[in-house]
Amino acid sequence: MKIIQNHKITNSLKIDSISKFYVEINSKNEFLDLYEYMKDKDLDSLVIGEGTNLVPPNFFDGIAIKPNFKNISFCNQKNIVSVGSSVNWHYFVCSCIEKNISGFENLSLIPGSVGAAPIQNIGAYGQEVSNLIEKVHCFDLRTGEFHTLDNKECKFTYRNSFFKKSSLIIYSIDFITNHNDELNLDYESIQKYMTHFKVDPKSLTAARVSEIICEIRKNTLPDPKIIPNAGSFFKNTKMHKQDINDKIFSLDKLIIWDLEDGLVKVGAARLIQLIKDQLPANNNVKLYEKHALILVSNSFASQSEIVEYANSIKKLVYDNFNVSLEIEPIIVN
Ligand SMILES: Cc1cc2nc3c(=O)[nH]c(=O)nc-3n(C[C@H](O)[C@H](O)[C@H](O)COP(=O)(O)OP(=O)(O)OC[C@H]3O[C@@H](n4cnc5c(N)ncnc54)[C@H](O)[C@@H]3O)c2cc1C
Repeated sequence: MKIIQNHKITNSLKIDSISKFYVEINSKNEFLDLYEYMKDKDLDSLVIGEGTNLVPPNFFDGIAIKPNFKNISFCNQKNIVSVGSSVNWHYFVCSCIEKNISGFENLSLIPGSVGAAPIQNIGAYGQEVSNLIEKVHCFDLRTGEFHTLDNKECKFTYRNSFFKKSSLIIYSIDFITNHNDELNLDYESIQKYMTHFKVDPKSLTAARVSEIICEIRKNTLPDPKIIPNAGSFFKNTKMHKQDINDKIFSLDKLIIWDLEDGLVKVGAARLIQLIKDQLPANNNVKLYEKHALILVSNSFASQSEIVEYANSIKKLVYDNFNVSLEIEPIIVN
C-alpha cells in the first residue's frame, strides 16, 4: 500500500482538486493495512470511483481512497456474476449483453464504476441497479471488518441506499444474471424513439435496446469528456401535490407523476426550465441547453461556484413552486 501526498482527484466536472493523501487499494489485505494506518489518525476519508458524481473541493484535507478491483467472473450454475468495484459500469453492461444476459441494457452508458452503482442506486429509462443486485461485498473502514450485505440490507430507494451515510468501501458486487423479465420499453423516450423510427417491439433484443438507449443518451446528455458535468444535478422531488405553489405557474405546466400514499413526484427539469431566465449569469457554470437538470462547467469552475449556482436554482424553485430540490451529486467537504 503506497500513500501518495497531494494527489489530484479526477472528476468529471474538471474541478481542479487535490487530496492531501491518496491511496490505491489493490487487495483485501491492503484494506487491513489502510485500517491500521488510519486507526490512530483523525483523517477524513473519501472513496473515489471515476469521479462522475462528485463535486470535490480545491483541497481535500484527508485521504482519497481508490479501490482497484477489476475482476469479472460469471458463474452460470448460480446465475451470478461477481464484479470488482473498479470495473467501468458500461463495460460491464456490454459484457452482460455479449453473453445474452438481459436486465442491464436500460442502464447502458451511465458513466462511472461498478462499485459506485449501489451508492445512489443508479437508474435510468425505467430500470434501477437495485433490481439486479444479489449481494454487495465491502470493508468497513471504521471497524476494520469485512461484510457482505444482501439486497434488503442495502436499503435501496430512489437515488439512495444504506451506503450513502456509511463507512463501507465496496470492493465487489454479485449481480443476478437470470433476469428473464421481458425487455423494459415503457419509458417515454424509448416509446418516442420506437414510434419515430417505426421499431417493431417484437424485433428487439437486449443488445438493440442498449444501442437505442446509447443513441438517446448521446443526443440528450453532454459527454463529460468534452463538456464537464456530473449528470443530473437535482433529484425529482417527492411531496404532497397540494403543497405545490400554483399561484405563479399553473400545475399543468409541471411534470407530475402520481405515487402511492397520496404523494407525487415532481419533475425537477421542468421546474428549472420555467425559472431559468431568472438565474444569475455565471462565467464558468451554466445549465446545459439540451437538459435543464445538468450543470455544465467550462473547466474553470470551483466547487464553491458550482454549489452557489446550484443554490440559486434551489432558491428560485422554492420561491416559485414551494418545491425543495435536493442536490444529487456528492458535495465533498
Ligand atoms: C453525463 C452523466 C450522466 C449520468 N447519468 C446518470 C444516470 O442516468 N443515472 C444515474 O443514476 N446516475 C447518472 N450519473 C451519475 C453517475 O454516473 C453515477 O452516480 C455513477 O454511479 C458514479 O460513478 P463513479 O465511479 O464516477 O463514482 P464517484 O463519482 O467517484 O463517487 C460517487 C459516490 O460513490 C462513492 N463511491 C464510489 N466508489 C465507491 C466504492 N467502491 N465504495 C464505496 N463508495 C464508493 C463516492 O465516495 C461518492 O460518494 C451520470 C453522470 C454523468 C456525468
